[in-house]
Amino acid sequence: MTKLNESPLFRQRAHIDGAWIDADSRATFAVCNPATGETVGHVPNMGGAETTRAIAAAEAALPAWRRSLAKDRSAILRRWFNLIVDAADDLALLMTTEQGKPLAEARGEVMYAASFVEWFAEEAKRTSGDVIPTNGQDRRLMVIRQPIGVCAAITPWNFPAAMITRKVAPAFAAGCTVVVKPAEQTPFTALALMALAEKAGFPKGVFNVVTGDPVAIGGVLTSSPVVRKLSFTGSTEVGRLLMGQCAPTVKKLSLELGGNAPFIVFDDADLDAAIEGAMASKYRNAGQTCVCANRLLVQSGIYDRFAERLAEAVKALSVGPGTQDGVNIGPLIDDSAVAKVESHIADALQKGARVLTGGRRHALGGSFFEPTVLADVTPAMRVAREETFGPVAPLFRFDTEEEVIHMANDTEFGLAAYFFSRDVGRIFRVAEELEYGMVGINTGLMSNEVSPFGGIKQSGLGREGSSYGIDEYLELKSICLAGI
Ligand code: ADP
Repeated sequence: MTKLNESPLFRQRAHIDGAWIDADSRATFAVCNPATGETVGHVPNMGGAETTRAIAAAEAALPAWRRSLAKDRSAILRRWFNLIVDAADDLALLMTTEQGKPLAEARGEVMYAASFVEWFAEEAKRTSGDVIPTNGQDRRLMVIRQPIGVCAAITPWNFPAAMITRKVAPAFAAGCTVVVKPAEQTPFTALALMALAEKAGFPKGVFNVVTGDPVAIGGVLTSSPVVRKLSFTGSTEVGRLLMGQCAPTVKKLSLELGGNAPFIVFDDADLDAAIEGAMASKYRNAGQTCVCANRLLVQSGIYDRFAERLAEAVKALSVGPGTQDGVNIGPLIDDSAVAKVESHIADALQKGARVLTGGRRHALGGSFFEPTVLADVTPAMRVAREETFGPVAPLFRFDTEEEVIHMANDTEFGLAAYFFSRDVGRIFRVAEELEYGMVGINTGLMSNEVSPFGGIKQSGLGREGSSYGIDEYLELKSICLAGI
């Protein structure tokens, strides 16, 4: 592993039209290491002018890229995939340094991010159309699938690599060009991916990364008539705002927004598997994922045993800087994340919940927080309605299947849900009744490149990954050839 400031992947400039550049104004902003509070480096603080240039570059690159052979785009994506895998250790260190997650998790994310590039390198060749049985003797009917055009991607800090590749890989595979705005907390991972893409041979202007002011950059990306599609992952609040901003130019949208995942444990569950699933689903990335279990709904007959076992497992977690060996829980991204976790816990305790373990800021200080388990949680508490986005497992109690389905669906969100049961009839009933885009049964982890990722209700629009994911970047064109 190369030291960070000696790594060729550590880029403190943005990338527009095939060149590494500073902001027009030479302004920069600092990126901070959440484990130490130290400055990792600086990136250009760009705004509307640079974004306009990036869009123009993507527009200029589009005609040749969209006409290129799928096989050639596939080969470039495959080279990018190989370069990402070869650089996995360096990328992981960069990610842990700016984002905080333990190094092993960061490496896992790099491989997950790479899997989308590999998958869409393959899918690039499979955007076939259709020939439709004709409706008249004098004509023939066809459907072709074409790239939508210039796309914008706005991505969050919790998965600094995968949220980018999950969007841009299908876009490139389809023949689209892209302007990416990474989260201000984690631009270095994005810029490192850009550096590897440059090496892989993407033509100039196909892949642009602008760093800086979210409101100014987002304003230009959403209002530009040249940009035909926005793919956003982040909060529901910002997603709603961007959806509104895209309305005047009627852009195609993919939105991966907030979740409020129920994690249901029925009396007949395999307790060991349920504990393992809860640990993976709740405490991964210190609870900062949109598919993290947000509410643990446990049936009365197993509640006490589950609570005791979970608290035991959580007490064994090691909290510390992500670069330290054996650490399972890194710092939260910043102080406002800690403040939200604290306020959810305070509200729950005030309304009658009990702390089984954790509950406070960690002795390490900064944005480290003790992994927490709360018992006797009720739907009247804030943790029931809002995404905590931190290492807190609130345990709710239920008696019947009907009751828990109602509790699980009683939210405006609909991203991921999990349940543990060994009753085959119940498994089908509950899987069908849960109003969620993704349902994990007897597992706490279900994201992969081959299954569609996405939510329903106010968790978003569209699907990423899988054979469906490329459709987000393609338009159908119906062709009617008459007079023959
Ligand atoms: P989080 O709460 O997880 O940081 P956000 O929705 O605030 O989620 O951020 C996700 C992404 O959206 C980031 O890249 C952020 O910079 C960007 N963002 C935040 N506010 C805006 C905005 N008003 N316009 C465009 N992008 C925004």
